[in-house]
Amino acid sequence: MKHINKFLTALLILTLVIFSNALYADERPILIQGAMPSETDYMISKLTDAKEINIMQYKYVSGKFADYPVIISLTGSGSVNIIISTLKAIEEFNPVIIINQGTAGAHDPKLHTFDIVLGSDFMNTSRWQSLQKSAGEGADYRDIIYKGASYFNYVGDDERSEEIFLQSDENLLNIAHEVISTYKQGKISDGVIATSDSWERRIDRIKYLHSTYGTSCEDMETEPSSQVASMFKIPFLGVRVISNSSLHNEEFNPASGEACQKYVLEIVKQYISKSKIVK
Ligand code: SAH
Repeated sequence: MKHINKFLTALLILTLVIFSNALYADERPILIQGAMPSETDYMISKLTDAKEINIMQYKYVSGKFADYPVIISLTGSGSVNIIISTLKAIEEFNPVIIINQGTAGAHDPKLHTFDIVLGSDFMNTSRWQSLQKSAGEGADYRDIIYKGASYFNYVGDDERSEEIFLQSDENLLNIAHEVISTYKQGKISDGVIATSDSWERRIDRIKYLHSTYGTSCEDMETEPSSQVASMFKIPFLGVRVISNSSLHNEEFNPASGEACQKYVLEIVKQYISKSKIVK
């Protein structure tokens, strides 16, 4: 009798593992962010059991993709929107990873519209202190010193980081590399994503940032989103498609946003299949 009970218990556990959702190492949702509808609508259309949740003015659509919980978040543009929207999503959904993706302007002359930059590093190009200049000495954009992320911890140890560059999670970057061949609309390379609340179209400054800091492209959300994610120790990946290049007179092309979303869903599919315990 004892043996039969043990056998039945084992069978029950095995059945639960196979048929419940406990197939994954972690079942918290994946959060994917885009600033504009043209950067989120394709992914939303691919969700099953989609349900819209609004927090303040931020839209989140929760659902399933490849049988795994995913939240697509429409953040709005710029630093204030991305910071609030990321923080609210972390409080509400406790995501397992965060992917920030969308369109960007090229800084690297090798890049063209529809090419994709996988963010190995992120830099905030609006965080700087200028050199002292007297009246009449001008305001050259090169007379500045860039400042790091400045994490302050006023409660607890006085930890402070002044890193200029933040990074994507290495594991997520590797997963993104594994599915590069699925993307046919342009080239994909690793690079530095520069974020600020401004849109730079002056060739001299674009060239300066590229040659001095190695920036590949610019956007308005990646760096602050990565900073919030790192404060909560949530693995983060930044992916940007080139939608415009002042270097080559390529004007903003919103169709690039959909191309980027398709590639991001390939990354997500690969991530989900790798986090399965029972294959
Ligand atoms: N829709 C807003 C702003 C759009 S800004 C408005 O009308 O005011 C452009 C958006 O696209 C930002 O979310 C930014 O991340 C991205 N972007 C694309 N190309 C960019 C560029 N060259 N410089 C800065 N941001 C760019």
